[in-house]
Amino acid sequence: MNFSNKSREVVLDKLSNETFDLLVVGGGITGCGIALDAALRGMKVALVEKNDFASGTSSRSTKLIHGGLRYLKQLELKLVHDVGTERATVHRLARHVVIPEKMLLPIYKDGTLGSFTTSMALLVYDLLAGVKTDERRKMLNVSETLAREPLLNKEGLEGSGLYFEYRTDDARLVIENAKSAHHSGAVLLNYAEVKEFTYDSAGKVTGALVIDKHHNRRLTVRAAVVVNACGPWVDFLRKIDRSLQGKRLQLTKGVHLVFPYEKLPLKQAAYFDVGDGRMIFAIPRDGITYVGTTDTVYNQNIDNPLCSKEDAAYLLNAVNHVFTGVNLQMSDVVSSWAGLRPLIQEDGKAPGELSRKDEIFESKSGLLSIAGGKLTGYRLMAEKIVDIAQQKIGKKFASCSTAVHHLCGGEFDSEEQFQNALVLLIEKAKGMPDVQVVRSWFFRYGTNAETVLENYFRLKSLQFTEEDAQLFAELEYAINHEMVLNASDFFVRRSGHIFFHKEASQKQIGKAQQFLTEQLQLSSEQSSGSLAEVKKDYEEAVAFRS
Ligand code: FAD
Repeated sequence: MNFSNKSREVVLDKLSNETFDLLVVGGGITGCGIALDAALRGMKVALVEKNDFASGTSSRSTKLIHGGLRYLKQLELKLVHDVGTERATVHRLARHVVIPEKMLLPIYKDGTLGSFTTSMALLVYDLLAGVKTDERRKMLNVSETLAREPLLNKEGLEGSGLYFEYRTDDARLVIENAKSAHHSGAVLLNYAEVKEFTYDSAGKVTGALVIDKHHNRRLTVRAAVVVNACGPWVDFLRKIDRSLQGKRLQLTKGVHLVFPYEKLPLKQAAYFDVGDGRMIFAIPRDGITYVGTTDTVYNQNIDNPLCSKEDAAYLLNAVNHVFTGVNLQMSDVVSSWAGLRPLIQEDGKAPGELSRKDEIFESKSGLLSIAGGKLTGYRLMAEKIVDIAQQKIGKKFASCSTAVHHLCGGEFDSEEQFQNALVLLIEKAKGMPDVQVVRSWFFRYGTNAETVLENYFRLKSLQFTEEDAQLFAELEYAINHEMVLNASDFFVRRSGHIFFHKEASQKQIGKAQQFLTEQLQLSSEQSSGSLAEVKKDYEEAVAFRS
């Protein structure tokens, strides 16, 4: 069975009629990572997600697989060690979506970090993260720094540190985990919301009452153990379980702004000091440069956090200060996104000081909840909670194998194999007018880019225009293999087009919706709902301007 909403009825049947070892609630990186780990151990796993996979925080991050250099300042050495070493593992598992990226950390005369401290901090960072000798940090003088990034403000510049991180596409990392979990036997469904838990006579949780939002139907999913992996919504689920006592979440908002590359033409990704204690990333990629993030306490509507005028002004100001001559204006922002960090509350601490460590809570009913943590450490978080679930289930299963299980699309044993696969794919694409398109498919779908390419050639042979054949080739793959149900699923989360190729995709949404309607046999109400949703997403990407 394909990982497709074309099989939604079969999936609903399984969810209603089978009894699972584990039910995971929430389809962000935490939930999908847990589902994969558990399925690989041989557990019978179900996962339900109330909207689309990665529609919560896991599509709204800075999109880095990083060790969290700034947590060194808070002396979170174990956290830096754990997520730092994890970077290389996640890269090995999914080379197509986790890509090495050199990061420049400029040092200014009145900055928070001096040359010596930066050098020592980066060295400790490399050592804690077990970075290979040839990839360890290099300290650069002023002229070397400016050669790397000529746009940096020269006033007070004393040099920089150049160190190693990885960039990713967060939503794609989630979907590759979800697909891998599916291929390992887990049953996953998007647009399926947990409304209540079910309990036995002793008050132990036995499953959940779920609403299928696509058809507005109710079903009960039964499982030996239930895990609440709902990110910012973790406390809502604890409340439903009547177990919201003791530690709670403190949500903080972070926003990012996207500029056309010509407006902020950085040669090099940078991580810089803003002067109020915050550090900000500026990352050039795929014809744009994005900048972020902020960190402010958030107590408003969790379902749709947006970038405010103040958030945007703060980032604009910071960028204009560090990169001279760019003089960016609000009108230069092409899109933005905002996400909520599901952090654990600590009395008297400012948002930026709250720990990024994860924690697991077990309620009286046996509900396991997991919160905190980082995208980067998702695999370790999954291992920890699946170990606990395994003990509670009380059956014998295999041990954790996610460290050696390549994610879907990332089945490469070495960098050489990865590069050869790219060359081969480009050769197979002979006849396509734009080789960049195939490259971008490779870095989005990995080994599965071949299927997208096959779709493209078939559509071309059916006389589709070049532009339509490219769009529908991807969309068809996303419908048949990535559980896309709505236009936003594709434009926001599977491809990121809404943020990174806004103008082009704006012209495509009408025909994409028509294609989705035909392929998934949507009713006219479902189809117009989906179209309205994606148009709203477009508007909200720059809503702070209105
Ligand atoms: P989510 O992704 O929010 O997933 C929870 C899911 O549960 C949601 O999809 C939601 O729809 C679903 N759900 C909620 N209620 C229900 C219900 N009743 N029934 C079914 N489903 C439900 N980490 C890094 O490692 N690198 C970074 O660069 C980075 N940058 C960040 C920048 C920002 C601005 C923010 C906010 C975070 C950043 N992080 C980063 C942290 C990282 O993004 C998060 O730790 C991670 O994405 C949290 O994932 P999650 O699965 O726990 O939560």
